[in-house]
Amino acid sequence: MTELRIPNWINGKSHQPAGDAWIEKYAPHDGRLLSHVTDSTVEDVKAAILAAREAQPAWAALTPIARGQILASIATMMRQRSSELAECIALETGKPPQDAAGETKGAIMQAEYFAGEGMRLHGRSLTSGTPDKHSHTVRTPRGIAGLIVPANTPIANIAWKSFPALICGNSVVLKAAEDSPRIAWLFAEITKDAGLPDGVFNVVQGRGEQSGAALVLDENVDVISFTGSTNVGRWIAEVAGKRLARVSLELGGKNPFVVCDDADLDQAVHWAALSAFSNAGQRCAAGSRFLVFRSVYATFRDRLVAKAQSLKLGVSAGCDLGPVVSRRQQQSIIAAIARARAEGGQILCGGKAPDTTDLANGYYVEPTVIDGLSTRSELGCKEVFGPVATLHAVDDIREALAAANASEYGLTAAIHTTSVDRAMWFAQRVKAGVANVNMGTYGSEPHMPFGGFGASGNGTREPGIEALDVYSELKNISFLVRPALLS
Ligand code: NAD
Repeated sequence: MTELRIPNWINGKSHQPAGDAWIEKYAPHDGRLLSHVTDSTVEDVKAAILAAREAQPAWAALTPIARGQILASIATMMRQRSSELAECIALETGKPPQDAAGETKGAIMQAEYFAGEGMRLHGRSLTSGTPDKHSHTVRTPRGIAGLIVPANTPIANIAWKSFPALICGNSVVLKAAEDSPRIAWLFAEITKDAGLPDGVFNVVQGRGEQSGAALVLDENVDVISFTGSTNVGRWIAEVAGKRLARVSLELGGKNPFVVCDDADLDQAVHWAALSAFSNAGQRCAAGSRFLVFRSVYATFRDRLVAKAQSLKLGVSAGCDLGPVVSRRQQQSIIAAIARARAEGGQILCGGKAPDTTDLANGYYVEPTVIDGLSTRSELGCKEVFGPVATLHAVDDIREALAAANASEYGLTAAIHTTSVDRAMWFAQRVKAGVANVNMGTYGSEPHMPFGGFGASGNGTREPGIEALDVYSELKNISFLVRPALLS
């Protein structure tokens, strides 16, 4: 791919920015310049919001079934162009091709799921204490949805928010992630080719603190759905909350993975490695705190280290993990590991960028396993968003639960055990929006609600039917039937 200029997408076409400022986007695998990305100004964001506002009433006036048919066409076109989408994701994020293809498939399933929702979009019918009064609820659109996404799983993040927003009759202004700009542009082009009316879906590129913040602050934006870091989420909750916009926050995690003494250790190591290292650890749902029963600690530790050392880094088919998304992120992870070492952590493997020449220019971090840290240490508590696992020994299931819950976050959790009692006891009590037994800390599907407790979110859930509550207003409609008037 030659170096590109990536514009915004407003009112059904590429839109030249008001200013002439551009952000450089580099390939995570080898650091080469890929594109110059529009650094949108407030004026650009306002143009996108205006287009969304003008297009929304006609979109909302379509029946949900008609909207669903357009979403189904988007799914079909995404499938037709899935190789192109996956190649773009692989290039912009550095993930291996099978991971990029899997993510694309998941995004298409989101489109299919919410296309079908056009034939449901259920309300409730309600009883009444008043004779002959009949009530029911209907969903109405909120208006303009401002969607802000990160780059870690770019097409999945776009799909999770865009499809429920659209099926509910909203128009969209998507703030693309700085590190995955072109995939957002390609998605926008597909929506147009699939028949989505101009202005219903718009993309602004650029820096979060400029174009993202402009979207959050604009009083014409009725709902802000944000996926990203907890600090930015807190700011959004404050400013968008102040003007009473609906806010949905999908934030960070420091997800516990418990290994009991009765666990199938082969399976536990397999899922532990996937949870910590797949997608180069750049998942909100990554497993990063491993709470292991003391009696199996040494065995689990040695096997996880051996597994981590066997993983293949790179971007060719079959590689286990690619680089992280930016030089800044790579440096921040390596600095966090250095601080862990200074706190007394033992780096059992990894802890640095690989020194092989073929990866030297990329933003790689070797899969890293650390023990000897307290669960209250920085790495025991703070999300690092990279391929780093800390191990902590626990005496029993009660100590495992207490350690799992001693976190400001509460996104996902996993437990490995062959005891139904332990599994059920733990899953019921762990402070997490997702609790998995004998699997990884991740693995959501389009119809499953996802979101977290505490600093992991603000209580909303996307996707699944729960996402409809983010993107629609409920209206209760009542009729009084007057039998006296019957002829
Ligand atoms: P980030 O918060 O820096 O950026 C996310 C998005 O927000 C980007 O598009 C960015 O441009 C934008 N942004 C930044 N500052 C902004 C501001 N002031 N106003 C408006 N928008 C702004 O996060 P990141 O480092 O790109 O992504 C990693 C984080 O995302 C991690 O904390 C991870 O756990 C979280 N995440 C959460 C989920 C989830 O579903 N809970 C999923 C994926 C990632």
